[in-house]
Amino acid sequence: MTSTAQRLAAIRGDAPPKRHNARTIAALTGNPGCARRAVLDGAGADKPKLAERIGFPARFGQSRFAITRGNAFEAQVKADGGVELLRLVAQRLGVPVPERASWTDLGGADDLPDRHERSRRALTAVGPDPALFDHPLLGLDVAGQRVSLEPDLVAARLGGRFHVVEIKSFPVVDGQADPAKVSAAAVQSAVYVLALRELLVAEGYDEELVSHDVVLVCPRDFTNRPVASLLDVRKQLLVLRRQLDRMARLDDLLAGVPAGFTADPSAEPAALAAALRTVEARYAPECLASCELAYFCRDEARGHTGALGRPVREALGGVGTVADVLALAAGERAPDPGQEEAAALLRAAARLRADALAGDPA
Ligand code: SF4
Repeated sequence: MTSTAQRLAAIRGDAPPKRHNARTIAALTGNPGCARRAVLDGAGADKPKLAERIGFPARFGQSRFAITRGNAFEAQVKADGGVELLRLVAQRLGVPVPERASWTDLGGADDLPDRHERSRRALTAVGPDPALFDHPLLGLDVAGQRVSLEPDLVAARLGGRFHVVEIKSFPVVDGQADPAKVSAAAVQSAVYVLALRELLVAEGYDEELVSHDVVLVCPRDFTNRPVASLLDVRKQLLVLRRQLDRMARLDDLLAGVPAGFTADPSAEPAALAAALRTVEARYAPECLASCELAYFCRDEARGHTGALGRPVREALGGVGTVADVLALAAGERAPDPGQEEAAALLRAAARLRADALAGDPA
């Protein structure tokens, strides 16, 4: 075992590293500046257990009902060998609907090496005809671990390229879907695009053979009728690559972590919380939807401007706490060097507020 591997094992408590999936990899891009998260994810620490142990259990994840509904919608969309799905995808890509396309089911038993090999063979031997691949198994290296990933569907040779197809059960109402859910689907799909590109590049193909346009299939309005839309995931691919590269340099990350740092869920809660505080975090409200430590970090960030979100953190650049913001706005203290612009804005905002309140007949 290398010294890095030993250190990571000590951090997570000698348990096997927690495996990533597309959702957790996608979440890595949500807060790329957070060293705490990068170290814990790099070490494969059990963050849900850790959060529970320190008294701030995570409260997110899909409900059983949502998972069942999602599975039922996916099965409906893929029925009859994907005839309807083929039509939807082709129309959305603006290509003639093929009379037929082969359908290859790459799902099944959990024999991962066998499924990886079947997926590799099928996806790298695509002939000239349109083809659909159900649940291919792909792989990606994340912080030195090989992670298995399973997109809902890959369409090949439609419009001349491979397209990842994601089937989600959140609705598109009047042409609009929940932006947060669409954005999460885009990052998750980018993970699949990256994995599929790596697979094809390793076999000598050009990465551009896999389109950056992902086809998202959702129920339309309040029915179960599917509707397809295109998501351009180029931006997400860039962020994802950057974050994966950063996690691949675990030594750099660990250099800033105090010796003896532990995230072993069997350690004493107070010691664990104290250890976590020694690694810098960057809490933002988005953490609540993407990181198991969100309630701990939110508590820690209470009273800090960063806890109010990135736009506030950036607008108040250099003013770290809410108490300082109020003091600057009231003119009760002089701004430190670099805070002059924010202080002027705060005083102007305080004056406007006072004027508005003075003119309010109430
Ligand atoms: S919840 Fe905490 S550890 Fe997780 S990304 Fe946010 S700040 Fe970082």
